[in-house]
Amino acid sequence: MTDAPNPLLSPPALPYDLPPYGSIAVEHYLPAFHAAFAAQRAEVDAITAQTAEPTFENTLVALERSGELLDRVARTFYTVTGADGTPEIQLVEEQLAPLMAAHRDAIQLDAALYSRIAAVHAQLDGLDLDAESRYLVERHHREMSLAGAGLDDAQKTRLTDLNQRLSVLTNTFEKNLLADTNDLAVVFDDAAELDGLGDGELSAAAQAATARGLDGRYVVTLTLYTGHPYLASLTNRESRRRLLEASRARATRDNEYDNRPVLREIVRLRAERAALLGYPSHAAAVLADQTAGSPEAVASLLRRLAAPAAANARQEQAALQRIADADGIRIDAHDWAFYTEKVRAERYDLDRAALRPWFEAERVLRDGVFFAAEQLYGIRVNERHDLQGYHPEVRVFEVHNADGSELGLFLLDLYTRDTKRGGAWMNSIVTQSALRGTAPVVVNNLNVNKPAPGTPTLLSLDEVTTLFHEFGHALHGLFATVTYPHFGGTAVYRDFVEFPSQVNEMWILWPEILANYARHIDTGEPLPADVVERLHASEAFNQGFATSEYLAASWIDQAWHGLTLDEASSDIDVAAFQAAALADIGLDNPAVPTRYASTYFAHVFSGGYSAGYYSYIWSEVLDADTVEWFRENGGLTRENGDRFRQRLLGVGGSGDPLAAYRDFRGRDAEIQPLLERRGLTG
Ligand SMILES: [Zn+2]
Repeated sequence: MTDAPNPLLSPPALPYDLPPYGSIAVEHYLPAFHAAFAAQRAEVDAITAQTAEPTFENTLVALERSGELLDRVARTFYTVTGADGTPEIQLVEEQLAPLMAAHRDAIQLDAALYSRIAAVHAQLDGLDLDAESRYLVERHHREMSLAGAGLDDAQKTRLTDLNQRLSVLTNTFEKNLLADTNDLAVVFDDAAELDGLGDGELSAAAQAATARGLDGRYVVTLTLYTGHPYLASLTNRESRRRLLEASRARATRDNEYDNRPVLREIVRLRAERAALLGYPSHAAAVLADQTAGSPEAVASLLRRLAAPAAANARQEQAALQRIADADGIRIDAHDWAFYTEKVRAERYDLDRAALRPWFEAERVLRDGVFFAAEQLYGIRVNERHDLQGYHPEVRVFEVHNADGSELGLFLLDLYTRDTKRGGAWMNSIVTQSALRGTAPVVVNNLNVNKPAPGTPTLLSLDEVTTLFHEFGHALHGLFATVTYPHFGGTAVYRDFVEFPSQVNEMWILWPEILANYARHIDTGEPLPADVVERLHASEAFNQGFATSEYLAASWIDQAWHGLTLDEASSDIDVAAFQAAALADIGLDNPAVPTRYASTYFAHVFSGGYSAGYYSYIWSEVLDADTVEWFRENGGLTRENGDRFRQRLLGVGGSGDPLAAYRDFRGRDAEIQPLLERRGLTG
């Protein structure tokens, strides 16, 4: 440690308030958090110490002005924990988790603050406020009520204990998962065992082995979800079996990384917290404040989709079995992707692995992802080599509006690394707010394997999809035009937040976009028209499997979080509980495993999606309905883009999202386009 000032506590000096990552050291974080906690505490105390009657200005606006330092420090830090969580960073995160929970609770449960907000809320109808300000009062009042601000002191103490313990447990869950995922990476002795992989994939496996001190061997690291992209191409059945078995074993072994007791305690404490707040279950408490409204509404959608999805998967399985018969194999879970590619090749003459040469990452990014947004919204994206992110691999881009005005920064962190958690995501480092005068700084993280030095990154179609998807979230954050920080970025209901990113996927195969980016790495030739045609023809292909594995995970999430405190307090066998839940909804086909099993279901046990994994298909109803709207209205035009941007993306969390949808679409969303897209019309 030196006496140099803590860069986290200095006023922002870089463009768009980008954190000075180059001068931040690990030891700066905890002191900065302590200072930031104290600063917000003092700001909130100043609000409640006022003798003046509560007003919108002296209470709500003052609350919105509070916590700016904490927001900055926390967003700076949590960007790093997800994308570059070194052991040192993880240690800070562990120490911080209970402190952060305690600070949040102290404000959310502040009785004096709550009574001032309740007073403003009570006279809301008589106040002359704009729509966003009214909504701000309603949201703060509701969120504090849901957090338990109305409870008595003994209950609040118990609630605070629960939150602190939960913050530790969810952190443990994530740490166990990361460690066991690394531990269970599959080691192969011989390249022959990896027959079917491309040269790039094979050399990545050789490099991964070298990095682990296993020179001359091959290491395949696991993905977050149950399956693995290599399952589609590995010709050696035993290799496929080993890969899937390792994936499904994560955090279920009798070792220090066992997540079974961790998740049981998480479930029990969440149920207890819900009971304290007056709800029968955690799911009931969570869903009361989502567009879905209740567990019953969610269950009803999931059940409606499960039966046709499972039936479609059985039909798909029969087609796979016909080919597997020739090999004398009965289709098992680890065979599904491999034989699916054979059926796909037979039916559509399409080898997805052979598409990579058309999807060079830089071209996909600039001439696909950015190009689509330029066409729709008129924005311009330029790389800023003079600005640096939190890791040398992070790239920084500046985004301008069509009229040349500054919009914000977009950071891209494409490659996988051992310190990065699995999956792909978007987060905000700075959120847009007129009150604070801040512009958005957003990040996209993916987990693309790094190619051998000197060779280009060739993406799979799935990775192309992920890039468009995450950039859809980025646009949502970049386009926000809200006043209050509370609504900045993508601070919308969780069962709404996937909608803009899903819509952005519609441009992947859109003719003008595809022709612009999908160019062969060597020849520059566009993807042949007949291949494009077959890609379109095969869009509903394997949707029985994809829908089933997703619905299964959603159902497991609802099952755990739908438990009452009594039910959650019994000694539950994790595997048996999960199996019973899947049998209950008819998604128990052993050849179609759940996309996430309980012990590695990070979304719901360590991420922010508890009782919320259904959200993806819930918001896909809006997505499919919106794609239909774009098609009906001429597709890729500035006029369409601007309407979507102004009436929907720009609203952020500052209003009722379903009202924003009606304003954009001219009516409520209909489910039919989703059923058709996924082949579920029966
Ligand atoms: Zn997403």
